[in-house]
Amino acid sequence: MVLPSKNNKDERTEALRKIRDEVLNCVDSPLYHYRKQNHYYPVIGEGDHYAKILFVGEAPGKNEAQTGRPFCGAAGKILDGLIQSIGLRREDVYITNIVKDRPPENRDPFPDEIALYAPFLDRQIDIIKPRVICTLGRHSMNYILERFGIFDSPQSISKIHGRIFDAQADYGGIKVMPQYHPAASIYNRATLEDLKKDFLILKNLLA
Ligand code: URA
Repeated sequence: MVLPSKNNKDERTEALRKIRDEVLNCVDSPLYHYRKQNHYYPVIGEGDHYAKILFVGEAPGKNEAQTGRPFCGAAGKILDGLIQSIGLRREDVYITNIVKDRPPENRDPFPDEIALYAPFLDRQIDIIKPRVICTLGRHSMNYILERFGIFDSPQSISKIHGRIFDAQADYGGIKVMPQYHPAASIYNRATLEDLKKDFLILKNLLA
């Protein structure tokens, strides 16, 4: 008997495992030694390998690097609440970052770090084939907008968060939606309100 969906699922899991193994052994990364010195893990991503929505953050923080799980600290609590607010569970979506290792002291990722890890994100997109990509923060926003030919220069997140852009992936048409990074809303009530509104737009998009 042929079980195509199960076989596909295994193929996706296998392909994602391969990415994990390659990132684990990515000795050329400028963040590799920092990971090893601190006994950190790289953070590959987690969630449904068939998710319709892919969330792309920036880089793991300390909690994430200690556990290997994306968005499991303060910003993660906010993201979980936003996901629940639109009737979904964390397990229904896929959550990853553009940079897979923690930069020292939570600094912004450098361009060469983004360039080194971005091909892993590209492969995750091709494997999971999400219909909607939500970027969280300006680094993943600018990478995804350029990657899909939506803009060819960096954009201001305050101007375009919550907008929906049509794009073409190798596997079909997708929507890209930039959003603020949840961490930006920890001390800024207005940003949290913007995030809540943008999640409602996302909910309507999925309806
Ligand atoms: N911030 C991110 O961008 N990603 C995480 O996984 C956690 C915090």
